[in-house]
Amino acid sequence: MTQQVAPEETPFDFDKFGFEKAIIRSIKNEGFSTPTPIQDMAIPFVMAGTDLMGIAQTGSGKTAAFSLPAINKLIHDYRKPDPNHPRVLILAPTRELVIQIGKFIDQFSRGTSVRSLVVAGGQSYQPQIRKLKHGVDILISTPGRLIDHMGSGNVKLEHCHTFILDEADRMLDMGFIDDVKEVRKTLTDDHQTVMFSATMNSKVRKLSGELLRNPEYVEQERKTVVADTITHKLMNVRRKNKTELLISLLKNEPIEKALVFARTKMGADRLCKELTQAFADTPIRIDAIHGDKKQRTREKILLNFRKGRTKVLVATDVAARGIDVDGISHVINYELPIEAENYVHRVGRTGRAGETGIAISFCDPSDMRLLKDIEKLIKIKVEIDEEHQYHFEQSETHDVNKGRVRRKPRNQNRFEKSRGRKTANENRRPKQPQDEPVGKKQKHVNKREENKANKSLKPAKSNRYDPLDSSFGFDEDPVLQKLRGKASKRKQKSENETETGPQKQTQNERKEKKRKTPKARITLRGKPKQTGGHKAFSPKPKRANRQGTK
Ligand code: AMP
Repeated sequence: MTQQVAPEETPFDFDKFGFEKAIIRSIKNEGFSTPTPIQDMAIPFVMAGTDLMGIAQTGSGKTAAFSLPAINKLIHDYRKPDPNHPRVLILAPTRELVIQIGKFIDQFSRGTSVRSLVVAGGQSYQPQIRKLKHGVDILISTPGRLIDHMGSGNVKLEHCHTFILDEADRMLDMGFIDDVKEVRKTLTDDHQTVMFSATMNSKVRKLSGELLRNPEYVEQERKTVVADTITHKLMNVRRKNKTELLISLLKNEPIEKALVFARTKMGADRLCKELTQAFADTPIRIDAIHGDKKQRTREKILLNFRKGRTKVLVATDVAARGIDVDGISHVINYELPIEAENYVHRVGRTGRAGETGIAISFCDPSDMRLLKDIEKLIKIKVEIDEEHQYHFEQSETHDVNKGRVRRKPRNQNRFEKSRGRKTANENRRPKQPQDEPVGKKQKHVNKREENKANKSLKPAKSNRYDPLDSSFGFDEDPVLQKLRGKASKRKQKSENETETGPQKQTQNERKEKKRKTPKARITLRGKPKQTGGHKAFSPKPKRANRQGTK
């Protein structure tokens, strides 16, 4: 007689946290088999009701780390929510992120009585007000909209026992600190606070000190700032060829979904138009997402991208924040971000949850400084991909060993000059006024001028790429151009000042100026003076004055 053996239950890694059955069911339905490291570390503390500071990046599974224990608590002590009194509050910096968190919570509370609501700017108030009045357990919001609702009495936080702050660093960067503190003030003393941030800096540390009580600290260990599932590539391409290169990549690379980054909203629209034209006869659909598009439109664009109807999405940094779309195989930096931090956020859209991803950055000579900053931040030397028809050897060499970008001398003359050849430049030293004795002060000024002129012949700076030096004659980038413009104006101003400044004036000229100046003053003082208390500062006397001078 054969003995019947009960089928052995396969141990499930998430069982150890003590989640309610409904949550375990959802986790299984989602296909999660093992907790991510941040989930392993954070969930026990959040379940225990301890305040927590978690350092983890997008893609680490942090949303589950804070959401699952919160849902679990609500299921465990379930009672119908009072109108306008959420019991869990989740704050995140962007609309996209709160929507994404809301979706996650929806999925994981399916089949339970837990109700959640997302409120964010750009959506109409009335449906939000109605739902809040009806009562929600979890409120997921951006700070601005929450403050609005609190101000009009639609949200009251006296029953809120769990306060979660996601992407605290970004929240601080975006200037939401006062809103966060205002929200915190209205919470009762016995609430739990859970804070997550991608980075730890002094501002985040200070905020955590203000918000958390006896917190536990967990940090997802990482070798690099970006996930090691991402391959980074650099393509040297001139600005004028970037679109052609992008088209060729989109045609030839095995792309599942591509997120292409442009720096400006107009740039994103323009690029989207060009790509749409190029792929008009193909089934490839392209769209653009940026802050000028209405919330509804943005949601639709994201849905199409998520569902794979749109294969290529051109985005700006702000619009792309919090995009959680599976299957982005490529992130293409059509333009490098000005802030190196944004590179991390951009490429974080690919290579998520263990999948691999490719990040390709187009780089023209004017991007070299930005690239250097990025490499410093991510601690990776980005490999140059020369296998494309627009590749050119940049005069800057990308020194992989030293991690530096060096510029070969473009103008050999600059170096010859520096090697001591007498050139016209040297004659630019300020001339001594021949017709006057050189005083002590003047001597000093002239010495300074001489030093300056000599300094300009030194090679030290000329072999380094200086993005503010327009003499390199790069293909201009509008943003850098703007930055350069400012600096060069300043430079120009100071040059002009030097040109016409006291050093260049002869004593006779100075005497002449001195002679003229008092006269002018006397003329001004000679005008009828408007007096009379603070009226003197009001525009009226000024007008009277102008009329009087006519
Ligand atoms: P997050 O860092 O919260 O934005 O999560 C990134 C992605 O990882 C999301 O698509 C999650 O659904 C997914 N994810 C979270 N936890 C796990 C897990 N334990 N196993 C597999 N995927 C997960």
